[in-house]
Amino acid sequence: MTTNATTSFQPVLDRIAEEIAELTDRGTPADYIPALAAGDPTDFGMAVAELDGTVYGVGDWRRPFSTQSVTKVFTLALALAGEGDALWAHVGREPSGDPFNSLVQLEYENGIPRNPFINAGALVVTDRLHRLTGDASGSLLGFLRAESGNPDLAFDTDVAASEAAHGDRNAALAHFMASYGNITGPVPDLLREYFRQCSLEASCADLALATGFLARHGLRADGSRLLTRSQAKQVNAVMLTCGTYDAAGDFAYRVGLPGKSGVGGAVVAVVPGRCTLCVWSPGLDDRGNSVAGVTALDRFTTITGLSVF
Ligand code: GLN
Repeated sequence: MTTNATTSFQPVLDRIAEEIAELTDRGTPADYIPALAAGDPTDFGMAVAELDGTVYGVGDWRRPFSTQSVTKVFTLALALAGEGDALWAHVGREPSGDPFNSLVQLEYENGIPRNPFINAGALVVTDRLHRLTGDASGSLLGFLRAESGNPDLAFDTDVAASEAAHGDRNAALAHFMASYGNITGPVPDLLREYFRQCSLEASCADLALATGFLARHGLRADGSRLLTRSQAKQVNAVMLTCGTYDAAGDFAYRVGLPGKSGVGGAVVAVVPGRCTLCVWSPGLDDRGNSVAGVTALDRFTTITGLSVF
């Protein structure tokens, strides 16, 4: 990883950090597990990675946090790379308009979740990846270490245990889908893999770098191909329409980029062909998206004019 404080993105990041410091309403940390409830909404970090791995950052951009649902981007990419279009027989790609942990649509749609970025869809994708590789969380970790260039990335076992202790709703989703035959492995194994995935600790710099394949039209950091150009477009499209839960319309309106949030307060975003971003601040709005994070991305695309529109 290299940094260069003199080129174009650094002044933009510095300006955004100054503006974010003025924000008075920063939302509330997720409180379903103690590890996240302790988050401080005044914490803020942001990183931009260029296609060649040059990274710019501001605030707590090198500090690890709980990545949570941001990991759903990577498991989707790995499962799509391994399984191709057959994956879409098991999970849809329409926005849900419901909260990320909702059960309501599953019964009407025969256990096929609306998209890979709500919890139900992510459980299906993790199940598919586990079936393909025999080790979903290990594949995810290996991929993220390679793309970020950070061999120290790891799961937080306390967070994973806490997720499991408070995991009734995810367990309900998994069992319900299994009743339709849309989960292949034993549900307890799947839940263990899913909770480990949610517990991954990484920084803004790590996640901005790891998302780079989506800005490089499917090419990994070493130049090898993970996804076809068309598949990279598909993942970006699903991020744009579904990556921020029932606020995806507002996110597209304000930010204008494919993005994916997590309840740890991180949001990643992609400017195809140009750069990737990760912003982190633990205070969430009532849909589970980081208040300062979405505001910072809104300011980034407004100031730079970089957007898919
Ligand atoms: N661990 C959380 C859950 O499964 C992740 C949700 C999220 O980040 N939106 O409920």
